[in-house]
Amino acid sequence: MNLHEYQAKNLFSKYGIPVPAGKPAHSVKEAMRIASEFESAGWVVKAQVHAGGRGKAGGVKITQTRDELEAAVKSMLGSQLITKQSAPTGQPVNCVLIQGLSDIAAEFYLSMLVDRAKRRIGIIASRAGGMDIEEVAATEPEKIINVTIDPTMGVMNHHIQRIAFALQLTTEQRKELGSLLKAMYRLFNEKDLSLIEINPLIIDGDGHLSALDAKVSVDDNALFRQITIEDMRDPTQEDEKENIARRFDLNYITLDGNIACMVNGAGLAMATMDIIKLHGGDPANFLDVGGGATADKVAEAFKLIVSDENVKAILVNIFGGIVRCDLIAEGIIQGVTEVGVNVPVVVRLEGTNVEQGKQILAESHLAIIPADDLSDAADKVVKASKGE
Ligand code: ADP
Ligand code: MG
Repeated sequence: MNLHEYQAKNLFSKYGIPVPAGKPAHSVKEAMRIASEFESAGWVVKAQVHAGGRGKAGGVKITQTRDELEAAVKSMLGSQLITKQSAPTGQPVNCVLIQGLSDIAAEFYLSMLVDRAKRRIGIIASRAGGMDIEEVAATEPEKIINVTIDPTMGVMNHHIQRIAFALQLTTEQRKELGSLLKAMYRLFNEKDLSLIEINPLIIDGDGHLSALDAKVSVDDNALFRQITIEDMRDPTQEDEKENIARRFDLNYITLDGNIACMVNGAGLAMATMDIIKLHGGDPANFLDVGGGATADKVAEAFKLIVSDENVKAILVNIFGGIVRCDLIAEGIIQGVTEVGVNVPVVVRLEGTNVEQGKQILAESHLAIIPADDLSDAADKVVKASKGE
């Protein structure tokens, strides 16, 4: 789960990570009132969306006068912001962050993340921070340094020294970096985060470090014990279908193809997507209904996948192990009948009670195309999606 910049900065403040003063606003009136609270030569208006790259997409506006501020807030609130990282149709802007203008002497990149290969928390830092860090990573990777933290030791002086050296900090700034890194590490662990990204971390006009931008991602698997974080969820920024799936405990990811998949088991779901690709098709989603799928859950899954307008055909690929094929067949019928599916449905069942399952489907008189094995199923669904 991702947080908004203003939520991340609130957490930063609580942990002693320096951030510029600012507050979120949901209306023009609120924005104008907040602006009056800050003594500043101007204000920056920042669209609060779950996507980076806002600066280059018009989602970060520097304003000098109250009129400019008002115009910027008006143009952003209620709009869809399309950035390099957003969904193709953009993310809705329902909130803007109003901050005083910072005097920027240097912009660095600093992040903390889970390094899966090393099974450690790692730090990435670069002197070449700001809006072009992806470009730097691609063309001048030597400008980026990596530090790995030993969980039994935490952030050590030698880590701080290395990063301070790479960022060319003064002795005073090195001390600030030390407390900042330790605070970040504490926040990371206590809130079960998977990413903290500060881009840019700036040196301000007085020579102090400050987090000008903030991105925080939380490990979904830990949300059950991070109630205060779960409360910060903003469903308007998330994929609606993925939210519905979460409610029914379905593992669902939207993709951009036109063949919907309903599978039990993540491994089988991956294999199913692969074989669809192999036969020249494109999956519209990843969907794992889980090992203990009930007829109701299968029906919900059906509703979910057909709510995607791009879907031209559906492939149901279920291996009946813990869950029996006859139950799955009932779920399929329930789903198809309830939502009125009007695209071809190819079903491949295998495993416990497969014969009963096939019989139930055959007797249902629904236009279901049975398949014998995975290749046959993929072949049939790809052809069906092309109207062949
Ligand atoms: P994004 O990463 O989504 O583009 P940032 O918060 O990093 O958004 O802002 C983009 C750029 O806008 C920053 O690199 C910085 O140069 C400028 N900026 C952001 N906030 C301020 C501020 N408070 N004062 C002055 N400039 C700012
Ligand atoms: Mg940024």
